[in-house]
Amino acid sequence: PSADASHQDRVLAGLADWQRGVRAQFPILAGTDEAYLDSAATAQKPQVVLDAVQHYLTTGNANAGRGTYRWANRTTDLVSHCRARVADLIGAGEPDAVHLVGGTTEALRRVALDWLVDILADGDEIVVPAADHLANVLPWREARDLAARRGVTVRLVEMPYEPSGDYDLAALAPLVGERTRLVALTHVHHVYGVDMNVHRVRRLVGDDVVLCLDAAQSVGHLPVSAPDLDVDFLAFSGHKAMALSGIGVLWAANRRGPRYAHRGWEGSPHTAGAASLAAAVDWFDATGLDRIEAWTVALGARLTDGLARLPGFQVLGCQDSLTLDSTVQRRHGLVTFRHPAISAADLGFVLAEHGLMVRANAHCQGPAGERESSVRVSLHVYNTVEEVDRLLDVLARLDASSH
Ligand code: PLP
Repeated sequence: PSADASHQDRVLAGLADWQRGVRAQFPILAGTDEAYLDSAATAQKPQVVLDAVQHYLTTGNANAGRGTYRWANRTTDLVSHCRARVADLIGAGEPDAVHLVGGTTEALRRVALDWLVDILADGDEIVVPAADHLANVLPWREARDLAARRGVTVRLVEMPYEPSGDYDLAALAPLVGERTRLVALTHVHHVYGVDMNVHRVRRLVGDDVVLCLDAAQSVGHLPVSAPDLDVDFLAFSGHKAMALSGIGVLWAANRRGPRYAHRGWEGSPHTAGAASLAAAVDWFDATGLDRIEAWTVALGARLTDGLARLPGFQVLGCQDSLTLDSTVQRRHGLVTFRHPAISAADLGFVLAEHGLMVRANAHCQGPAGERESSVRVSLHVYNTVEEVDRLLDVLARLDASSH
């Protein structure tokens, strides 16, 4: 267990009243004893987001960018407002660099297939994080294959990993060279929960390489600034950031190559999604991403420490939950584990019987990912100490009965 356990407890105690008030804003949690522990899959929505959608659909639903009447103009303004609020959220300044798409998966495919594929030249290399989410693996392969069809040979270089679940930057350094056009990265890993040292990758690759960041598990969980991270593209999904499903963001401010030109304006935008996302950004501002992060990091550390006391369970990635010092790497409230004597499917089944909603199986990881199934618990600001302790209790009984 972490030497920092008492510090975690102090953080949790200090934020307890605030957190109770935050949790009370999620109507879905009010009527249930079950614990929702799968926010990495999708996040629950605060009342203000639901209200914004309801308000939009009941007072001015129209298509955007087309009509001349009041509802249509309001909808056009709403979409522009959403892009501006997202630009504020990720510190990006210009709303023009914010493109509303379907989600992270679509955003990354657009970078690979609408942009990168056109600028690739024979002998170019793309560095791919092959144990990251498949959404950040498959598009780069497709770009390579499309380039090959026009006679351009591109090499995909697999990004190596440390046992902690972080990128192995020492091993990466010699793999990045003159021909590296783009390095695809993830901000917070969806299985290991660790912050993937994006700053250090930028320092390592230098200024000329395009960095494309999958921020699906970081936006809405912690303050994220695209300019500060010094990336060229950033993608995230609305539904993981407390907005609706079907809307997502591609921020494209590539300064190092041909400018990304958004395609798809001919289609209708997800206007109710834009209403939800603008409201979610307002909610993050009002609630405070610093405190949201502090809560989930401390709660995740309590869970990691609790698991470390159960001899049978093995936590994937970094074992160390000493995550409260902002100068060291953090685990962001997302913990994945397995047990040698109990299958992940059985764990998932028993936990569900106890009203504990977790993800239990494989986790959409790329080819270098985990071979065996595991259980993932992913926390958000609405989760409580009591829920984590209830989970640990059930796991302790399972562990004891497995010997
Ligand atoms: N990237 C990461 C790190 C994820 O965790 C996920 C979803 O689990 C995705 C990408 C894909 O997101 P979406 O299904 O919203 O496109």
